[in-house]
Amino acid sequence: MTLLVEKYGGTSVGDVARINAVADKVAKSRADGNDMVVVVSAMSGETNRLSELAAEVNPLAPAREIDVLLSTGEQVTIALLSMALHRRGVEARSYTGSQVHIRTDSVHGRARILDIDDARVRADIADGRVVVVAGFQGVDHEQNITTLGRGGSDITAVAMAAAMGADECRIYTDVEGVYTADPRIVPEARRLDRITVEEMLELASLGAKVLQTRSVEFAGKYRIPLRVLSAFEDGPGTLITYEELPMEQPLISGIAYNKDEAKLTIRGIPDEPGIAYRIVGPISDAHVNVDMIVQNVGADGTTDLTFTVHRNDYKKSLQILTETAKKLKARDVGSDDNIAKLSVVGVGMRSHAGIATTMFHALANEGINIQMISTSEIKISVVVEDKYLELGVRTLHKAFGLENATVKP
Ligand code: ADP
Ligand code: ASP
Ligand code: MG
Repeated sequence: MTLLVEKYGGTSVGDVARINAVADKVAKSRADGNDMVVVVSAMSGETNRLSELAAEVNPLAPAREIDVLLSTGEQVTIALLSMALHRRGVEARSYTGSQVHIRTDSVHGRARILDIDDARVRADIADGRVVVVAGFQGVDHEQNITTLGRGGSDITAVAMAAAMGADECRIYTDVEGVYTADPRIVPEARRLDRITVEEMLELASLGAKVLQTRSVEFAGKYRIPLRVLSAFEDGPGTLITYEELPMEQPLISGIAYNKDEAKLTIRGIPDEPGIAYRIVGPISDAHVNVDMIVQNVGADGTTDLTFTVHRNDYKKSLQILTETAKKLKARDVGSDDNIAKLSVVGVGMRSHAGIATTMFHALANEGINIQMISTSEIKISVVVEDKYLELGVRTLHKAFGLENATVKP
């Protein structure tokens, strides 16, 4: 028997008709002889709705209680899907994260899975049942409900696949796979048949939310056979691969964007050892992740430092930076949350020069000013004004010829 872990995202279970369609799909796969674990998200919009309710009742609501609330979204869809399966004559059982022992640490809101005791799931499968598991949630060592962070149902699916030794983990979503760019922004974007795990990891962490970043990390660590497909259309989807792809691979696999960051600048600080540490240290101590950092030395021997943080951490970071600025007698502090990060990703960059030139040239032609740049072995990211996000993504997609099937180096 083939064991499949299938995950259906929020849009795919967004209303009763769609839940019925998922039930048809699962029933068919079951009838074909597959053993199945199905992970579902909350109905689309539900997690946002619940978060807003919490904020209305208490803007500083305890993280533990927020998790109790948010986890209910997935409890609704597991039950409904199981009922729909029963109606089709398929034996199914729904479980919350804690019921199937998805054990996590206690970091509410972004808990990490520590282990899964899959005995109960295995027993159900052995008895011929389809097991339906709530995504996005787990339980800590004190039986507190935890959630894994937004998009976390992808992590649940990959972790279940790892624990169960599944033959394939299938992420069903509202597009037909992983594309060269978000198809909602670039109509010419192409579905990729395959993508390497390292490129997928970069794309996800740079903003392509089609797979949650930690789910890709997890898949890479355990080499889980992972595929992204459409919940609505039949098709091959995109396979995540763990080997380098053949040489005629295009240089660039995809373009990602992120509008969740904000930029902070401190100017006129002494150019001396330890200065970056004294600025970034207090921000990190407040559990804020600093992403891009740029330092410039001015003609007068002072220096400026600019960095980006998540928008949610913007106000907190600005406050900390303002205090640091006083201590260091900095000239001033600047801040800007109207920014977007555009990134090009491809393993082909390792062996080819000129990618940055093509990127900068294309943006310049459109009059898009680059505020910050950062690079790694397989990606280049730039920060631009956020009003240029869509134009920027389309421009880069075109500049690298991603609408064509293959682009020779
Ligand atoms: P789900 O609810 O199924 O988890 P998500 O909304 O989290 O779905 O992720 C799917 C969305 O990711 C798509 O609708 C698409 O707009 C977006 N997306 C961003 N970048 C890409 C990309 N490179 N390829 C495919 N989809 C992408
Ligand atoms: N329902 C959660 C969210 O909206 C988890 C998920 O959909 O993967 O983030
Ligand atoms: Mg998602």
